[in-house]
Amino acid sequence: MKQQMLDRFGRIHTNLRISVTDVCNFRCIYCMPEDMTFMPDAALMTFDEILHLADIFVALGVNKIRITGGEPLVRPEVPTLIRRLMQVEGLKDISLTTNGIGLINQAQALYDAGLRRINVSLDTLNEEKFEQMTRRKVLSRVLQGLKTAHDCGFNPIKVNAVAMRGFTDDEIVDLATFARQNDYQLRFIEFMPLDADDVWGRNMYIPGKEIIEKINAVYPLKSVALNGESKSDTAQRYRFSDNGNEVGVIPSVSEPFCENCNRVRLTADGKFRTCLFSLTETDLLTPLREGASDAVITALILDAVAQKEAGHKINAADFIKPERNMSRIGG
Ligand code: SAM
Ligand code: SF4
Repeated sequence: MKQQMLDRFGRIHTNLRISVTDVCNFRCIYCMPEDMTFMPDAALMTFDEILHLADIFVALGVNKIRITGGEPLVRPEVPTLIRRLMQVEGLKDISLTTNGIGLINQAQALYDAGLRRINVSLDTLNEEKFEQMTRRKVLSRVLQGLKTAHDCGFNPIKVNAVAMRGFTDDEIVDLATFARQNDYQLRFIEFMPLDADDVWGRNMYIPGKEIIEKINAVYPLKSVALNGESKSDTAQRYRFSDNGNEVGVIPSVSEPFCENCNRVRLTADGKFRTCLFSLTETDLLTPLREGASDAVITALILDAVAQKEAGHKINAADFIKPERNMSRIGG
């Protein structure tokens, strides 16, 4: 029988996020400090190494890969990587998460490489707040990047907004209006304790339920039932009653969805993580570089999955924040 990444809680893992760099051209306050030290280039997986590990993961049942970072589009030649991943047999779905600014120049090349699904992070439509959130004054270029991607034919385009108390509250409906008007699928992500500056606090996230209530009061929503593979979706999904567009929330803090988790992660330096909040990780790149066989790498992966945590402990008294912040894990 084909091997699969089955953990002791019966969860089968089919979804892999691969970070291609920890470098980023933004400094979002919920993710990175202003003065970040990045990994040396030699520590990053090469495209050949990423492809090699992707093959091993696909043999273990992975059928979805999301490319992320840091900001993936600051790494040269990402369209080439996408083109090569498209050829991996057994992979049903490849997507990419970006802060959007690189789409102005790279959307067409990514589309031509075969990519169809992208997630663009956009937390606010207000220039001043954008600068406060990202420490960069480039909102108009992100909006231009989104439009370029739309014009290329990307579908769906998901817009991810981190919902932070005091920042996002008065923009929830405006962001929904923006997404409705432009055919983007909007997702609000509850702010999680993965920031580098330790700004997270229990009063700093906006519960998904509150977000949905605010939108529903202006644009009535219908809940989208999750079944089959979509049960492991991180998002609670809704549809606007008057147009088919979707909006959703990712309530990682207020309503964790760990029991249906099917995701694992590979950091840019080739460390395998079974949870965003893992306190341990398994080095796959060093053995790969030392010539370990696929069987050895497979055993390392299966061993780590067998020990996957039941869930994150954000809401528990003994929660310990991982050493890596979000940009060094790959969100
Ligand atoms: N740079 C790309 C981007 O921003 O889309 C990809 C990497 S980023 C780490 C991936 C996602 O993680 C983004 O949607 C970002 O908003 C989200 N994120 C970062 N830090 C977060 C935090 N502390 N809580 C919740 N989401 C976070
Ligand atoms: Fe960069 Fe994305 Fe982190 Fe913002 S969330 S600092 S864009 S990696």
